[in-house]
Amino acid sequence: MSEKTPPPTTTDAGIPAPSDSHSLSVGPNGPLLLQDHYVIQKMAQFNRERVPERVVHAKGSGAHGFFEVTEDVSQFTKADLFNGVGKTTPMFARFSTVAGELGSADTARDPRGFALKFYTQEGNYDLVGNNTPVFFVRDPSNFQDFIHSQKRRADTDRRDNNMQWDFWTCKPESAHQVAILMSDRGTPKTLRHMNGYGSHTFMWINAGGEKFWIKYHFKTDQGIENFTDAEAGAMAAEDPDYHRADLWNAIGDGDEPVWNLEVQVMPFEDAADYRFNPFDLTKVWPHSDYPPIQVGRMVLDRNPSNYFAEVEQAAFEPANMPPGIGPSPDKMLLGRLFSYPDTHRHRIGPNYLQLPINQPQCPFHSYNKDGAMRYSNPGDPVYAPNTAGGPVADEERYGEEATWDVSGEMVRTAYALHAEDDDVGQAGTLVREIMSQSDREHLVTNILGHASDPDVTAEMKPRIVEYWVNIDPDVGAAVAEGLGVPAPATAGTAG
Ligand code: NDP
Repeated sequence: MSEKTPPPTTTDAGIPAPSDSHSLSVGPNGPLLLQDHYVIQKMAQFNRERVPERVVHAKGSGAHGFFEVTEDVSQFTKADLFNGVGKTTPMFARFSTVAGELGSADTARDPRGFALKFYTQEGNYDLVGNNTPVFFVRDPSNFQDFIHSQKRRADTDRRDNNMQWDFWTCKPESAHQVAILMSDRGTPKTLRHMNGYGSHTFMWINAGGEKFWIKYHFKTDQGIENFTDAEAGAMAAEDPDYHRADLWNAIGDGDEPVWNLEVQVMPFEDAADYRFNPFDLTKVWPHSDYPPIQVGRMVLDRNPSNYFAEVEQAAFEPANMPPGIGPSPDKMLLGRLFSYPDTHRHRIGPNYLQLPINQPQCPFHSYNKDGAMRYSNPGDPVYAPNTAGGPVADEERYGEEATWDVSGEMVRTAYALHAEDDDVGQAGTLVREIMSQSDREHLVTNILGHASDPDVTAEMKPRIVEYWVNIDPDVGAAVAEGLGVPAPATAGTAG
């Protein structure tokens, strides 16, 4: 018990509360009175404690830290964040599962969100990636359907492995991401022991206006460590908040996790005839083509002091790109530029950028005003252009720079194919050339564990086998044997 005298309880308006224990009634057994403003405020506020949970990435854990530039990359970008060796920029990270709801288990098989907010001197930079370098689909019109297939059925309100395989086998472009998901990287041991990837291709622009295509890789300094399927399942039962506790305890104990940022840099002109479409989110750029170079390191050194205010209300938006950084023709990225701020306006309100966790830490001067829960407002003039001394865009310095040439008819079509583009090639390379024998054995065990679920129908199993045969005939044969399905003699088209 604290020896200090606690302060008096008050209403939210600061009026001392008459009691912590008793509502106002007419006699000890009598009816309650409407003028008990204090208790009514408690009940009403309690009813409004939740904001809608995120449709995806609902369960997250976060921490504050900093990014430090260790190498000079000014030849590639003028971004404030990445310029000046030794410079540090405060930042906030939020890690999450994708499909699970707020109370779900941390160690479930899922990709992990890896969302970063850097409070740079030229505005917030939000890099909203995953712990995998690729994604399941390459067009934003498929995203909602993909997520529906991973969440709950309409009738039983249960997740359903059959539905997941149905979508994946209908969409063989998912193969690369599913191969990573079904490996032990689908069940990271902790949030500290996984890499983060920007996943999309971004543009960097240097002070001379030269443009480059970029892939971000945050490599864990703690080393990659994963749970096996059985360990992850056991931990889900033992401590559903295991990852959250691990991150909190490590930082609290001074064992601050570190990630080294490496980037792959592609000269702007290379994109046109690179052997893979460099903007396709289901593909990586092999390191032998574009070797990663070191940029800096990210250190997480401070736990949030208030989970709701800092982690739940953190709002990341891939469209937040300060000068020197821009988007690319990656259709998934272009879709996300719209969808993230849209969900924040719905989830936490139109003025989410005024919350301390989301507010820039540099001066800002927009003409946006008013709306629900506005905390501070710009004064006059309220319009531009004006002759009253209001902010003026510096077009010479900050004019549109992240541009590329486009022309053609409006179409609804797939990306133009590059020489080696297909759905399964890179997934096959991963399985055959990167995974160890033990990784492959675990991959097969994990696939079988998932595809043997009673929900997975007898009709679905041959499709699952065909999907894996297309990725790698040996893995396909092992899956066929495990599921008791004859392996097709030659690869076909899954789905
Ligand atoms: P490299 O050998 O140059 O790089 C392979 C990469 O794979 C490394 O970055 C390694 O990073 C990562 N890796 C190692 N083991 C696994 C695993 N079990 N699951 C997923 N990733 C793993 O080869 P390439 O660049 O030519 O790429 C070959 C394949 O590697 C790709 O088809 C892709 O599937 C995978 N990959 C490639 C990446 C890239 O950006 N090129 C990034 C990640 C994976 P680390 O051990 O540090 O995680």
